[in-house]
Amino acid sequence: MQGFDAIVVGAGPAGCACGYTLAKSGLKTLLVERGKFPGAKNMWGGVYYGPALNRLFPGFWEEAPVERYILRHRFSLLTQDSSFSAEFTSKRFSDPPYNSFSLLRSKFDRWFASKVEQAGAIVASGLQTDDLLWKGNQVTGIKAGGDELPSSVVVACDGVNSLLIEKAGLQKNSSPRDFKLGIKEVIQIPRNLIEQRFNLAGEEGIAWEFIGPFTRGLPGGAFIYTNKESLSLGIVVQLSALAKNNVRANDLLEEFKNHPAVESLLVDGQLVEYSSHLIPVSAKAMMPELFTDGFLVAGDAAAFLLATGLTLEGANFAIASGIAAAETVIRAKQIGDFSRNSLSDYLNLLKQSFVLKDLKTFKKAPHFLENPRLYRQYPELVCDLAEKIFTHQGRPRKKIWKQLRESMDGKISFWQIIRDLMRMKGAL
Ligand SMILES: Cc1cc2nc3c(=O)[nH]c(=O)nc-3n(C[C@H](O)[C@H](O)[C@H](O)COP(=O)(O)OP(=O)(O)OC[C@H]3O[C@@H](n4cnc5c(N)ncnc54)[C@H](O)[C@@H]3O)c2cc1C
Repeated sequence: MQGFDAIVVGAGPAGCACGYTLAKSGLKTLLVERGKFPGAKNMWGGVYYGPALNRLFPGFWEEAPVERYILRHRFSLLTQDSSFSAEFTSKRFSDPPYNSFSLLRSKFDRWFASKVEQAGAIVASGLQTDDLLWKGNQVTGIKAGGDELPSSVVVACDGVNSLLIEKAGLQKNSSPRDFKLGIKEVIQIPRNLIEQRFNLAGEEGIAWEFIGPFTRGLPGGAFIYTNKESLSLGIVVQLSALAKNNVRANDLLEEFKNHPAVESLLVDGQLVEYSSHLIPVSAKAMMPELFTDGFLVAGDAAAFLLATGLTLEGANFAIASGIAAAETVIRAKQIGDFSRNSLSDYLNLLKQSFVLKDLKTFKKAPHFLENPRLYRQYPELVCDLAEKIFTHQGRPRKKIWKQLRESMDGKISFWQIIRDLMRMKGAL
């Protein structure tokens, strides 16, 4: 077989964005995906943020299989039997180009890969990449399905458990502390019930994040995102904390679903999909080397993901880094040089974009989010105080300040709160 200009491994958001950009510019491109079809086994929570996709397909929401545009973002702190919520909405979120969308990967990845094919790339599904080809220190293609497929450059977009990074000998800096385990269910519910229960109309959607006792004090949280006729619901918990405390993530998911604030939202729902996946959350601290001779890394494989506790953004980082990798390859093709030196342009492009800028800005967030008080003491404190404020017990009230002191008593000190606020200032 004749060689390709570029082989992109993995047809997730990073690989599709990379493959599309390469093929659009006329490079002979192969996109290899191990799933039966792109998106077949892929999962995420399901909210896509930001304009990176709009750069590739202006007005993409008109044709892409988006579920709902996100009009409202809600954040809730739960205790065993109470909840305290804050919500943000903006008129701007309901006007094109919108701010974010709920999406289901099986439909979305398939659509994205079809655009890569239309742009002129070959998309080979059901083909697992097993190894790299080498000429000296230069990567010169892949081994897949028993075949050797040569190419000038390989772009690894093979996700969080990237095999190719190891095969390329790039240094990884991660431990179980750097990953969260996500478990997600898709629960089918009639459209009218979703709209009644979440107070939505038409194509409006809500992204709802939760912190509470269901993680048993372990760093993590839960989410519910509305699709057209289903809910994406799940939990995300630090992998090392689960192992250390011998906790099964699935038990935590069940506890979340049984919480009074959640249970009633799921009545008459039917479970249609269950999946789990790792999330690289330590960003800069765990980032591998990003390129070597004839080889680049993008998306989750490179740990390009932003977790601030309020949002989890990986798809937009994957798409932006996939585009940057493709632009680097296009320049390398123009000068006929795929060496490490030539591919180092990739780093400059990432540094100029939000990808490395955001990860630098929020580099202390992963450490801040490990604070156990965020997951037990603070939800209890806020809910206890709210209960005192909103309950009349038939006797004269105390000042709110005094009630706060009572809620804090024996649970948390002012010094701890001040220290946590200072840490939050540094991290967020
Ligand atoms: C529970 C959970 C919730 C999330 N919520 C959100 C969210 O709401 N918003 C958001 O933006 N991000 C979210 N993310 C993160 C987001 O899913 C990822 O950041 C994003 O999918 C990364 O894209 P990627 O293309 O780099 O990798 P992936 O999406 O993982 O794609 C990798 C692709 O490579 C293929 N592959 C792997 N190995 C091989 C091989 N050897 N040969 C051939 N193919 C291979 C896989 O099959 C897959 O198709 C969430 C993640 C999880 C787990």
